[in-house]
Amino acid sequence: MSTRDELLRALPAVHELATAAAAASAAAPRWAVVEAARRAVAEHRAAILRGEQPGEIAPAAVAAAAAALAQPSLRRVVNATGVVLHTNLGRAPLAPEAIAAVVDVAAGYSTLEYDLAAGARGSRHGHAAHLVRELTGADDALVVNNNAAACVLALSALAAGREVIVSRGELVEIGGSFRIPDILRQSGCRLVEVGTTNKTRIADYRAAITPDTALLLKVHPSNFAVVGFTEAASLAEVVALGREVGVPSMIDLGSGALPSTAELRALGVGGEPSARDVVAIGVDLATFSGDKLLGGPQAGVLAGRADAIARCRRHPLLRAVRPDKLTLAALVATLGLYRDGRGRDVPALAMLGAAPDELRRRALALAAACGPSPHLAVIETSSAVGGGALPTAELPSWALALDGPGAADAIDRALRAAPVPVVGRIVDGRVVLDVRTILPRDEVDVVAAVRMLFAGMTTG
Ligand SMILES: *Cc1c(COP(=O)(O)O)cnc(C)c1O
Repeated sequence: MSTRDELLRALPAVHELATAAAAASAAAPRWAVVEAARRAVAEHRAAILRGEQPGEIAPAAVAAAAAALAQPSLRRVVNATGVVLHTNLGRAPLAPEAIAAVVDVAAGYSTLEYDLAAGARGSRHGHAAHLVRELTGADDALVVNNNAAACVLALSALAAGREVIVSRGELVEIGGSFRIPDILRQSGCRLVEVGTTNKTRIADYRAAITPDTALLLKVHPSNFAVVGFTEAASLAEVVALGREVGVPSMIDLGSGALPSTAELRALGVGGEPSARDVVAIGVDLATFSGDKLLGGPQAGVLAGRADAIARCRRHPLLRAVRPDKLTLAALVATLGLYRDGRGRDVPALAMLGAAPDELRRRALALAAACGPSPHLAVIETSSAVGGGALPTAELPSWALALDGPGAADAIDRALRAAPVPVVGRIVDGRVVLDVRTILPRDEVDVVAAVRMLFAGMTTG
């Protein structure tokens, strides 16, 4: 038994440990090796001071920690959760056309705020507006950096200092602290709640109108469903009432799909409102995300009547929430696919529309590439849309199911520790990798991660 002082004296110097770790593996940069060595020595010292005997520091462990430190925290992963628009995993993957547009604009200079014909200053707000107009039928449009910003801008521009009427059934929390009552307060509006959680009629809106009413607001209940004894005033009723009393109406669509209602139904996501449909109803302003069902980059789109958009465009907040050139490039290219009748080539929509037979074939091929193994099976499962769309929808899908001698958590952790991490979900004690959200380029990484997992099982 060594004494505490002996153990402390035996701790290596940070630079010696770093040199030994660098010799064990030359992969990590020097700063990371030194930092990992410093942390290892500090942890050991703390353990000794707690009265523990932590043993020697292995240079290989320091080298591994250094390699982990050198990795950026924002990294590519494989989404095997089956949730197509997974907010934590970055929502919609971009189409090749959108990626090419980003690369082109990012690598050099662009017409971001330049009018080539005039040889003079132009506006960044012109690039996407005409496409949004064309695709939604709106008089005018404006793009900002996300839908939350679109809501704050619209509420600030249309209703600051005045009353906004909202149904109690639509005072929703979207997640990440985006709550409609808080957003209204933040935008300087006074919230006037009408109706009840489950039932709100158009008469409730009418009764709440005062000379100080600035806006009638509808909010799409993106991530939940109220079922049973329910009733809500339709958007058409709210818009008609607004017209009658001279108060503008707005809808926060959340996801806001661009295909028509019929096309959405064909994709298995019928029931989500299409932006074109709400514009046709005559709402003054609709807001929606660029990276939910639209399948483009993170962005917020405002589409509606010319005067409502003009007020948003004039508001000083616009400068704080304007989109950058990379966002605009990706959005314009994605909108271009819809305009060209190629909505099916938008990856999020292609994944949503994938046929179960095709998914089964892909699952079998992927399993064959990984296996054979007694710990691997191909199973039927169901995927979710995510991104605040169709919270109750389940899309029939196929998956690899992995089990092993250890708990499912251990398998899950091992897959997340792969060179390209694979994120699945645990169902009934197995790790399930849903092929719907595994992109073609991800397949080789899934095979590598699963093979590494199996190799780890046999070596213990
Ligand atoms: C997702 C969502 C938002 C926020 O949109 P972001 O693009 O994530 O900022 C706002 N309102 C509703 C109804 C939503 O579903």
